[in-house]
Amino acid sequence: TSRVTAGISDKLAIPGIANIIAIASGKGGVGKSTTSVNLAVAMAQTGARVGLLDADIYGPSVPRMMGLSGFRPEVDVEGKTIYPLENYGVKTMSIGYLVEENKAMIWRGPMVAGALGQLLGDVAWGELDYLFVDMPPGTGDAQLTLTQKVPVTGAVMVTTPQDIALLDCRKGIDMFNEVHVPTLGIVENMSQFICPHCGESSPIFAEGGADRLAQEYKTGVLAHIPLDMRIRELSDSGTPVVAALPDSEQAVAYRQLAGEI
Ligand code: ADP
Repeated sequence: TSRVTAGISDKLAIPGIANIIAIASGKGGVGKSTTSVNLAVAMAQTGARVGLLDADIYGPSVPRMMGLSGFRPEVDVEGKTIYPLENYGVKTMSIGYLVEENKAMIWRGPMVAGALGQLLGDVAWGELDYLFVDMPPGTGDAQLTLTQKVPVTGAVMVTTPQDIALLDCRKGIDMFNEVHVPTLGIVENMSQFICPHCGESSPIFAEGGADRLAQEYKTGVLAHIPLDMRIRELSDSGTPVVAALPDSEQAVAYRQLAGEI
């Protein structure tokens, strides 16, 4: 925890939340939500009090991945309070709980900022050691809103080893640097492909890119997570691998990642 508390700025903190950690990526589809969900559950398994905010207003995946699809949060209209939904020991909030799952969100920037502000400020998170924020991909309104409104302790960047993902990850790190949010490190996702038949691993998206990027930016690679069919199957079915198979190698990798934060 020493590393994370060092980044606290003088912005208005959300009372009761010790650390706000952004999980970000330059590019979509690299596994940012999968990482957020498994990291949050792994951190909760260590006994920490954990929340997970789905800030991906346009493509919320937390309800499905956390097995909370179709649930609606309790809302106290007079007190302007929304109560988080909890599963696997993690309190969660997502725009996906408030809109139809299959409806496209067509919102302009200010609406995104407004919705995100509410999800941050009007949710009864209670006391949390960590609030993980699953960011939308890229460097847009949501990133600015988050970093302007609350003291973000640090950002964890998720990338695949592919050149194009690394290039976008670089832009993400540059953006967080500009708004003075420290990068806690990089998660290289889909690092190796594990063959479900023979168990052999192959570097289908190339090798070593995240390590080179980390070196260049003087940060570290916090984890290499393999491309593994079970990670996808379990995420899609709403039981993160960390909860479903706590003794698996994959779960161990996510718990190690939690230990690095
Ligand atoms: P993002 O949040 O970056 O858009 P997601 O976490 O939604 O990405 O992941 C995109 C897809 O890839 C999902 O179907 C997810 O289950 C799958 N996926 C992510 N990481 C892995 C992994 N390590 N192994 C296998 N499938 C993965």
